[in-house]
Amino acid sequence: MANKRNPRNLDRPVSFWLNKELFWEKNRVEDCVTIILRTKGCHWYEKAGCIMCGYNVESDKHITQQNVLNQLDFVRKELEKFNKFPKIVKVFTSGSFFDSSELSNETRSEFYVFVEEIGAEKLIVESRPEFVKNAKEVFGRDFILEVGVGLESANDFIRNKIINKGFTFESFSEASRFLKDNGFSVKVYLLLKPPFISESEAIHDAVASSKILIERGLADLISLNLMNIQSGTEVERLWRRGFYRPPWLWSAAKVLKEVKEMNGLIISDPVAAGKRRGPCNCGKCDNKFAEGIKRFSLSQNSRELNVRCECKEWWEDYLLAEEISRLPVTFRGRS
Ligand code: SF4
Ligand SMILES: [Zn+2]
Repeated sequence: MANKRNPRNLDRPVSFWLNKELFWEKNRVEDCVTIILRTKGCHWYEKAGCIMCGYNVESDKHITQQNVLNQLDFVRKELEKFNKFPKIVKVFTSGSFFDSSELSNETRSEFYVFVEEIGAEKLIVESRPEFVKNAKEVFGRDFILEVGVGLESANDFIRNKIINKGFTFESFSEASRFLKDNGFSVKVYLLLKPPFISESEAIHDAVASSKILIERGLADLISLNLMNIQSGTEVERLWRRGFYRPPWLWSAAKVLKEVKEMNGLIISDPVAAGKRRGPCNCGKCDNKFAEGIKRFSLSQNSRELNVRCECKEWWEDYLLAEEISRLPVTFRGRS
């Protein structure tokens, strides 16, 4: 089933698609339906918002719970039409699945029924830490629940002063412990690379954050988000002025390999890789790298990240240069 992106219709999800996903609890790869719901949006976005977040362009404050249920119904019918009933269901909103002002208890419950009805074995959702206690309502359901939390960095300064995330490492840790103590799986998103730090500092931060998560048992799975420039964000304004460059794919590979060496489970979806607004290398090797990262995310085999390209030297030079310049630099016609 192709990725279906719908023009703004409150009764249709922003998009949904089928792909393969690592079902790490069962050590196998499974079909997964990803549903991006249109909701009223993230409560934090309304208050302050994270520096890189453009998700709310798809939100609409007029959306009712009935609209959301109609979105679910639409996906259900599409799956029936194609006779596809994947084992994993991912439901993302532009905020928090467990925020009752975005999805009411009753609406969330309809999603649980949907997962059970199609015979899926796992539901993946995302939530800010302050809402995860609502996961308790999944007790007794016949599927595994994984909750993704956007920690971005274990460093409070980077998370709150730079990214403007609005919660502490301590509050994240409490949320993670709560989820794990109750038998739920925890996926933690880390961000490579926040603005205002150099490429090598960003690599260091992602590796150091992963180490803390692994050592303290706060994440079952780490998902490395490679910055892509979303419209209308602070990061876009910095990028337009030449104050920001998305990470190199070499940097992503370095983080993934180092975390794998620590026996961490880590995945990454290189959104917009090779594009102007996405993580990129020289242009020649970007696709190969992106495919390697996708294969690595399913197999956890670091050999998938062994791409050869002459631009490795440029990247090494870039790491040194950006330490001094503190701003993106240009080499041989390519930044
Ligand atoms: S918490 Fe998530 S959805 Fe909300 S503003 Fe931050 S990145 Fe966006
Ligand atoms: Zn290259």
